[in-house]
Amino acid sequence: MREECGVVGILSTEGEDVSSHIYYALFSLQHRGQESAGIATFDGSRIRVHKDMGLVSEVFNGDKLKLLRGDRGIGHVRYSTTGPSTPENSQPLTISFRGGTIAVAHNGNIVNSTKLRRALEEDGHIFLSESDTEVIAHLLAKELLRKDIVDATRELMKRLIGAYSLTILINDTLVAIRDPNGFKPLCIGKVNGTHVVASESVAIDVLGGKLIRDVKPGELLIIEEEVESYQIVRSPSTSQCVFEFIYFARPDSIIDGKLVYDVRLRIGERLYEEYGIEGDLVCPVPDSGVTSAIGYSLASGIPFLEGLIKNRYVGRTFIMPHQRLRDAGVRLKLNVVRRNVEGKRIILVDDSIVRGTTSRRIVQMLRDAGAKEVHLMVGSPPIIAPCYFGIDMPTREELIAAHKSVEGIKTVIGADSVNYLSLEGLIEAVGIPERRLCLACLTSRYPVEVPGEICVRRQVRLTHF
Ligand code: SF4
Repeated sequence: MREECGVVGILSTEGEDVSSHIYYALFSLQHRGQESAGIATFDGSRIRVHKDMGLVSEVFNGDKLKLLRGDRGIGHVRYSTTGPSTPENSQPLTISFRGGTIAVAHNGNIVNSTKLRRALEEDGHIFLSESDTEVIAHLLAKELLRKDIVDATRELMKRLIGAYSLTILINDTLVAIRDPNGFKPLCIGKVNGTHVVASESVAIDVLGGKLIRDVKPGELLIIEEEVESYQIVRSPSTSQCVFEFIYFARPDSIIDGKLVYDVRLRIGERLYEEYGIEGDLVCPVPDSGVTSAIGYSLASGIPFLEGLIKNRYVGRTFIMPHQRLRDAGVRLKLNVVRRNVEGKRIILVDDSIVRGTTSRRIVQMLRDAGAKEVHLMVGSPPIIAPCYFGIDMPTREELIAAHKSVEGIKTVIGADSVNYLSLEGLIEAVGIPERRLCLACLTSRYPVEVPGEICVRRQVRLTHF
């Protein structure tokens, strides 16, 4: 599973160029997208953009940043959501219209984008990419011809269904928008005279700034000398993605008032409270299982010891065509510390199981190194349904828990036991009420209407102001 995107928006009230700030902020969000990166700034007369395929460090250098003049701008890192991974689909996405230029950076996925796009095409709009972000840009441009930014955003929010945390330049105006369900995180902070909006608070930390607060679900921010806030839509229930806490976000980020590290620690403690399985060492699947493994170790008193070491320099690996070489690919990423695991009962902690193939290979590697028992503790309930809100997740058929019982999964993976965190345990660890969380991939009940899926809360219940 992969998070799809990270967004940034920065404005210096002291007239400083902000491209370097955006560059550093994107670096801190690199875990949210590694296929392409881009920055758009307003240089005083027009919007300038540089974007390309690759990591932030590959796309930008000092010379390129110097060309991106301007005291306000947006940035984006991306995996592909809607549309293939091509330069045309990289962001920020810009369109020109009668009122000027719009540049958009988007994290999320618009569920009804095909329908919206068809209607716009019938109206004569021409699309240059396959991305749902272009649909957002066209809808906004259309409304801006008749309305101011606040009213145009209100119309935009009435039309869009799905997940969208956005930073946008409308000519020289920087705005930030979070969808009414609040699927994806978005927060605002300040570094001296500079306003920073970003997917995660680590982007504010890296600039030496201070997190002020989360952008509220349904809120529009217009960022100038001061930040103006407009609560465009109010909803009785929101749907913050629970997997940000389990896996996607960095543990040092604060999302919706919760330090992700604390949540993961609590997940590990709770796994011990729920199962009480004893062993000789608690070993994480690095890196995502580390904090929960520490939690399990603290709660149980079983020593935390690394049994697997991750090669941090393996980036995106080419998918090997043969099974034997694919297994070598896993060994390239992870290696066993034989001395730590030989003859031991291992409590192996991972954040989740998706297809089960990686877990099976890891358990086999530990057994090959002489582990006596391997008990897999999973920091989430079984993933039984796909995500439509901006997470790159396999289809239902490929999700192991969608068609196998826990006992069946144990057999496939080859562990002595497989132990999933309960849904109640997860909600308690996150510390946010269930009615404010999206749990759709764990429950198969979707918070907004998705064709062919069961919907538990409908968008039409939202109140537009
Ligand atoms: S379906 Fe799962 S991954 Fe997708 S937004 Fe909801 S909780 Fe997050």
